[in-house]
Amino acid sequence: MTRLEAVIFDVDGTLVDSERDGHRVAFNAAFAEAGLPDRWDVDCYGQLLKIAGGTHRMTYWFESTGRPPAHARELAERLHPSKTRIMRRLVEDGQIRPRPGARQLIEQLTEHGVALHVATTGTRAWVEPLLRNAFGDVFDTVVTGTEVPDLKPSPAVYLEVLARTGCAPEHAVAVEDSANGVLAATAARLRCVAAQNAYTRSHDLSAATLVADGLDDPELVSWFDTRLAEDQRLER
Ligand SMILES: [Mg+2]
Repeated sequence: MTRLEAVIFDVDGTLVDSERDGHRVAFNAAFAEAGLPDRWDVDCYGQLLKIAGGTHRMTYWFESTGRPPAHARELAERLHPSKTRIMRRLVEDGQIRPRPGARQLIEQLTEHGVALHVATTGTRAWVEPLLRNAFGDVFDTVVTGTEVPDLKPSPAVYLEVLARTGCAPEHAVAVEDSANGVLAATAARLRCVAAQNAYTRSHDLSAATLVADGLDDPELVSWFDTRLAEDQRLER
């Protein structure tokens, strides 16, 4: 067994319940602000989540609702900054809460001297205030989609975290909620623990080392307990 030196977290859907009550709301507000009739309800948004990245998601939607491809892309690129601004406001208003078990897991890892990092394809403008509001300054290295535009399932954002921290993949574990996230982490040769949510329960997460119902699932809690206890034993 190799010592657990770092845990690298995804943000959306993993550390926080941000999709349904955050991003979805921000996309709809951006559509309304631009005078567009488009609205995404909870189920429709669940389907659209298969497409990673806000601009891609909007482009796909505008095309599938009959806009010509070039117009769809232009519209999506124009709306994305508004969506980011609205998302940032939701974050600053405290609308996005940590998932159950997130704070406890972070506390436990910190107590054991495990470094905490973030690998997200979200935009830094809302990711930073979100992490600060929800968790304080607990993360060492935060790499976002602003620095690494390759979307998951590309491993690029994980590889960037590993490169910046100098951590070997066998000494780190990724925590993800979705199929694209698990694929990104495992392509970077990381072990990945999946904490599903309502939107990702139907995803194929079979590449993950463990698939749990959430960060407060006793199976996930005991998986980390076992790892940390093992490391402590080796140190003695
Ligand atoms: Mg996610």
